[in-house]
Amino acid sequence: MLNLILFGPPGAGKGTQAEFLINSYQLIHLSTGDLLRSEIAGQTRLGLEAKAFMDKGELVPDAVVIGMIKSKLENNKTAKGFIFDGFPRTVDQAKALDELLNGNETPVCGMLSLEVERQELINRLLGRGLVSGRSDDQDQSVIENRINVYNDKTAPLIAYYQAQNKHFGINGMGTIPEIAERLKQTVDNIM
Ligand code: AMP
Repeated sequence: MLNLILFGPPGAGKGTQAEFLINSYQLIHLSTGDLLRSEIAGQTRLGLEAKAFMDKGELVPDAVVIGMIKSKLENNKTAKGFIFDGFPRTVDQAKALDELLNGNETPVCGMLSLEVERQELINRLLGRGLVSGRSDDQDQSVIENRINVYNDKTAPLIAYYQAQNKHFGINGMGTIPEIAERLKQTVDNIM
């Protein structure tokens, strides 16, 4: 099973590059951001709770996102592998993911970590906000908070996966095809 974490700050290109990876390697795409946005669209209780955090650029509580991932893994037992996009975002989420996957004897194979300069992230997110309709992409202070939350709570995961020899840094600056090619070379080496 090919289980990959697509990692990086908001605006690093995770969603865009996930499209390419799922098509190339027939993986199931699990984006906690997309799952949460579909809960909001469905006006579920979980969605309403999550929206308050998302609107401010804060993280949704660990138990909520871990529960969503757990049920997706249970419902896709025959998958060739998963691409985790926007998850894990805290060390506790990473530990929970390791427990879920190791319990199935299908551990994380690698963390693909997209590296992009801060100003480029802000430019990309503001550009996306013009077309995506995502309110958290339209407000510069929310964008800056998301990047700060990433630096405080999510970036420590780099050391977590480095300690398992599973961290692969990838230059996330350049054109979409250039970055896709770098990812492909890395994944082919992992396989
Ligand atoms: P994304 O689509 O990955 O940029 O996520 C949008 C927002 O959803 C984030 O700013 C968080 O508020 C929330 N979110 C997505 N994934 C997670 C996660 N793994 N843990 C906590 N909050 C999350």
